Amino acid sequence: RMYKRLMTCRGDINSLNVPFLALYESLIPPEEEKAKQKQLLTLLEKLVSKEWPKAQLYLYGSCANSFGVCKSDIDVCLAIEETAMDKSEIILKLADILKSDNLQNVQALTRARVPIVKLMDPVTEISCDICVNNLLAVVNTKLLRDYAQVDARLRQLAFIIKHWAKSRGVNETYQGTLSSYAYVLMCIHFLQMRRPAILPCLQEMETTYSVTVDDIKCGYFDEVEKLRDFGRHNKETIAQLVWGFFFYWAYCHDYADSVISVRTGNIISKREKDWTRRIGNDRHLICIEDPFELSHDLGRVVDKSSIKVLREEFERAADILQYDSNPCVKLFEPY
Ligand code: ATP
Ligand code: MG
Repeated sequence: RMYKRLMTCRGDINSLNVPFLALYESLIPPEEEKAKQKQLLTLLEKLVSKEWPKAQLYLYGSCANSFGVCKSDIDVCLAIEETAMDKSEIILKLADILKSDNLQNVQALTRARVPIVKLMDPVTEISCDICVNNLLAVVNTKLLRDYAQVDARLRQLAFIIKHWAKSRGVNETYQGTLSSYAYVLMCIHFLQMRRPAILPCLQEMETTYSVTVDDIKCGYFDEVEKLRDFGRHNKETIAQLVWGFFFYWAYCHDYADSVISVRTGNIISKREKDWTRRIGNDRHLICIEDPFELSHDLGRVVDKSSIKVLREEFERAADILQYDSNPCVKLFEPY
């Protein structure tokens, strides 16, 4: 009985469409921001090519995957075939090159899990992280951007979920909660699983785009302009989807056995992945398969105490959307 009551959302859920869409619109970066990012990228390209004429710079992460809100930092990947130097040496050299120009706070973080150079450009006021040869991130950025083209509801849902996660303090990987990348994958998977489906599974379709990166073959259907009306049979509104997302993660997901997989557009079992027990620091308490790096669980950062925090936040959000009289304010209340 309790379950039945919970399964159907409040009758007036659609009254939340207007405030949710207004929030989404307010988070979209203005066009000038894109232009400034390009300007900074051009400057960086100029500086890097003096030292490494064959190197290339790619934007990745939220500035390129279409899930970036306004005033985000940009993520840049330096692609370089440099056999004489290891990654830390390249990072240090890169920092030196960039220090010589009018860039501020140039720091080389060689000991980070992903070594980067951080900097701030005073002209555009944009901060930037530059990593080296992290080409899988460039490819998964394209996958996310392509999914966003298929149905407008993905970008709306992901902006709202990211905004919620930041407001509630559950978008902090160093505290054991999830990355923005993980939340976007959760949104894509959720929309793949709707019936009728709102998103297809691009990796199960004919391969029209294919690259091999670090020995991993990454291929999928990327002619997404042909899929623009894929989700037309599903009329769910953004308010219903936001509620459904939280309800799924609060009350339906099987944390003991299930792995969500955008690659297959399905749920797979932990047994199948051999993710049933803790190995080293990987506890697999919430399992989100990376679409290309299949041994990589994006939930690996989650530990015994942060899983509790996360699940309580999913429940809180689902319950607010169900019962609260002012859900739009309550949902995003700072923690
Ligand atoms: P934000 O708006 O919060 O900056 P973001 O989209 O830039 O969001 P991040 O979590 O900062 O997201 O990640 C940046 C990019 O790095 C992702 O888009 C993804 O390509 C890559 N990435 C991040 N975390 C991982 C990971 N654990 N495994 C593989 N790739 C990752
Ligand atoms: Mg980022």
